[in-house]
Amino acid sequence: MQTISMLIDGQAVQAATTFPVINPATGEAFAQAQAGNASHVDAAVKAAQAAFPAWSRKPDSERKQLMHALGAALEANMPELMRLVTLETGKPQGGLNGVGAGMEVGGSIAWTHVTADLELPVEVIQDNAEARVEVHRKPLGVVASITPWNWPLMIAIWHVIPALRAGNTVVLKPSEMTPVATARFAELANAILPAGVLNFITGAAGSDVGPAMTGHPGIAKVVFTGSTATGKRIMANASGNLKRLTLELGGNDAGIVLPDVDVKALAPKLFGVTFHNNGQTCACLKRLYVHESIYDELCSELANLARNAVVGDGMNPETQLGPIQNAVQLAKVEELAEDARAHGARFLCGGKRKAGPGYFYEPTIVTDISDGVRLVDEEPFGPILPVIKYSDIDEVIARANNSPNGLGGSVWSSDTAKAAALAMRLECGTAWVNEHGAIQPDAPFGGVKQSGVGVEFGQHGLAEYTSIQTLKIMKS
Ligand code: NAD
Repeated sequence: MQTISMLIDGQAVQAATTFPVINPATGEAFAQAQAGNASHVDAAVKAAQAAFPAWSRKPDSERKQLMHALGAALEANMPELMRLVTLETGKPQGGLNGVGAGMEVGGSIAWTHVTADLELPVEVIQDNAEARVEVHRKPLGVVASITPWNWPLMIAIWHVIPALRAGNTVVLKPSEMTPVATARFAELANAILPAGVLNFITGAAGSDVGPAMTGHPGIAKVVFTGSTATGKRIMANASGNLKRLTLELGGNDAGIVLPDVDVKALAPKLFGVTFHNNGQTCACLKRLYVHESIYDELCSELANLARNAVVGDGMNPETQLGPIQNAVQLAKVEELAEDARAHGARFLCGGKRKAGPGYFYEPTIVTDISDGVRLVDEEPFGPILPVIKYSDIDEVIARANNSPNGLGGSVWSSDTAKAAALAMRLECGTAWVNEHGAIQPDAPFGGVKQSGVGVEFGQHGLAEYTSIQTLKIMKS
């Protein structure tokens, strides 16, 4: 069985004990990871601090070129990384609509190259006979990156590449459930980067590694992707030295379907944006509001698609949907389904585990349900969709917005101008028309309300890894 190491100051580091990493398709361990602790965090922060002066002073063109080298290393190792992603997350190699391990590694490569090419130009505010005023973007120091289990490699890339590109050094901690592909990335990166620039540490479930990072006085910023509950703990723990924060947290995205759509053509698209990666994507569509005039027809189309989806081991090329990533998340999905049943909701298909080993759950369409039931109000993060009937557009916008979350939202219509005006009324970081969850490396992405703080990607995202220094030069 493979055992992964931590990487501190360019050296492989082992802890006193290891913990198992489970393949969710079998429920059995396929790798072991190091059970690090607060002393490893401290060593990693010290290494990152020592590496910071030289890294931050490197000419910008050199850092850019090294980021491209990281992208090339990911590409050269794509099949191995895809295999590791499938083994630890369960997501298929290909997947529903091509959303699987191939997309995760391919996206990691694309994000790396696009971010490598971003610039942080000096802004000139004033330049006249009296004075020149310039605004510079400077790196912050050591950045702590803490990632979740749903897109472990891609999210690590989203954190690490802009942090390094802007001149920071990094301590990276993956989820205890999915550390393996990230460990391989850290290894590949350490063959390219100077020692200490990217450090990689792991901790078992419930360990002190995460809190030791977010409370460490040597860390200047925390970038975190994960649940809102953990995000709140991180924000509280990071206050000691006023760490900068980017928090990408939970979403419970609403989609609103207007009566003018072509139901048959739309159903597969809606099914894809809801069920890819088994609904375990922050910006998946998670609550679907459908106009009463097309409700029955659309629900029945969605149920047909759900019944025919190929669910299985992600290493099988036919598989469209893999298992849920872990037993706790599976239990949460079951709990929300049972609660919906108890509230009189109707299950058109699914609604139970699949027999056999692994954490499989049947793709599930739930109708005759409304706001106020947990399956609608809470993020299920699994292959289950509540479909809610509406009749009045103003009322449905208010229902969509009546949530503590505000990550994404969508409106579906053949009248794109009308849909865009409605989409802009949704309280969320990204609003889509006739699409949902589609992100790109040059457009900012982030949540409002309790879905997060700050944005990632593009120029706006890169700027979050810097502080502003204003330089005023008097000329007379
Ligand atoms: P989680 O909050 O349980 O864990 C995320 C990470 O935080 C893990 O690495 C974990 O070890 C670490 N952690 C746990 N407690 C900590 C603490 N006290 N201090 C520091 N670190 C701690 O989240 P998860 O279950 O892995 O991920 C699923 C959630 O992530 C969902 O809510 C999903 O919506 C959200 N998510 C959001 C985005 C986004 O961009 N907004 C993207 C992906 C996932």
